Amino acid sequence: MAFLKNSFKLAKCIQNRGIASLSALSETHQMLQKTCRDFAEGELKPIAAKIDKEHLYPQEQIKKMGELGLMGITVPEEIGGTGLDYLAYAIAMEEISRGCASAGVIMSAHNSLYLGPILDWGTKEQKEKWVTPFVTGEKVGCFALSEPGNGSDAGAASTTAKLDGDKFLLNGTKSWITNGYESEGGVVFATTDKSLKHKGISAIIIPKPVEGLELGKKEDKLGIRGSSTCALMFENCKVPKENLLGQLGFGFKIAMMVLDSGRIGIASQALGIAQASLDVAAEYASKRLTFGKPIIKHQTIQNKLADMALQLESARLLTWRAAWLKDNHKSYTKEAAMAKLAASEAATFLSHQCIQILGGMGYVSDMPAERHYRDARITEIYEGTSEIQKLVIAGNLIKEMGL
Ligand SMILES: Cc1cc2nc3c(=O)[nH]c(=O)nc-3n(C[C@H](O)[C@H](O)[C@H](O)COP(=O)(O)OP(=O)(O)OC[C@H]3O[C@@H](n4cnc5c(N)ncnc54)[C@H](O)[C@@H]3O)c2cc1C
Repeated sequence: MAFLKNSFKLAKCIQNRGIASLSALSETHQMLQKTCRDFAEGELKPIAAKIDKEHLYPQEQIKKMGELGLMGITVPEEIGGTGLDYLAYAIAMEEISRGCASAGVIMSAHNSLYLGPILDWGTKEQKEKWVTPFVTGEKVGCFALSEPGNGSDAGAASTTAKLDGDKFLLNGTKSWITNGYESEGGVVFATTDKSLKHKGISAIIIPKPVEGLELGKKEDKLGIRGSSTCALMFENCKVPKENLLGQLGFGFKIAMMVLDSGRIGIASQALGIAQASLDVAAEYASKRLTFGKPIIKHQTIQNKLADMALQLESARLLTWRAAWLKDNHKSYTKEAAMAKLAASEAATFLSHQCIQILGGMGYVSDMPAERHYRDARITEIYEGTSEIQKLVIAGNLIKEMGL
């Protein structure tokens, strides 16, 4: 595994041209794609059904992903990470999710939602403490923005953080937190000044476990059942003042920036689920005989496969474009929202069509089609629902038109 991590580095030295055009990936990206694809095929696909059925966190596999450099993929090498770009992250996320969507969301919440804001806003000391020990796959992080009373309307956070001497006193409940059970660190958003509404929200790094923090029940979900989701309940939870990320009142801005890049990760997770659905559908269609020939020879089935491939490829180009814009320090809020909307709808469409192509076999758990269908659904909900992505896209369009 260490060899593979070094191979990325070697390839990066030989040729690190980024993507000159979206038609060709650089050698580094191709090598990463192959490594992740082989890993997903050999280590994730074989356990995906079991961890889904038994709600098991894939501890051993996440550790191996850490050894491959995937649990700190965009973290600079100087502080222990793999030092690759966001396109690399998108490619890796797709391949991992193609093997197991639960492993995909664990990786995504850890990389883009937890490490991302600390990398962008953290001090040198915060990075040493909260990034470097978290890149090996031994420790994961979480991101706590949503609350029971507000998900889409994130600016209405009611969890409070009151400065008390050299500590913040946290009170309130955060809900739906991915990696809630396993995480040993988290970025939590809480109001430090209610009168300022969303401008009074601050981002605070919390250690886990910590006195004054209780975990809610593990949610029994439709899909991505190998990842844990739970509420974080704070009652007079004391966190050192130096754990403030950025400045007081910067939390909402940080959260919105984190979600812009996080959406590229979720779009990539959706691409992985969509690709896995196409893989299953095409293979089955080439083997299943009806009316004396494989069903892939029936034009109606071919039309379905063509529609699936088209939606998948279009969404992939949108996703890679958003990553490329981020890597090139250009504005990408609208493009990330478009990518997430298109890729999540593609995942739902492809997994639906896959079941149809498999007929009865699509409806039972002997085949992975029904799991892909269940896993796909969440990609249209978290990190901003499809309705919210449309608001983001339209809002940016209106701004660009100067209206
Ligand atoms: C499995 C899972 C994992 C999650 N992980 C995390 C996590 O790690 N960290 C975290 O902070 N959160 C997490 N979430 C929360 C997730 O981001 C929210 O569920 C999501 O943002 C939607 O919020 P909500 O559930 O409160 O729905 P609501 O905001 O109540 O929305 C309900 C419906 O109303 C629509 N709607 C709302 N406002 C508008 C509007 N202005 N215009 C049009 N339609 C609107 C929505 O699109 C939706 O269809 C997770 C959720 C799940 C289910």
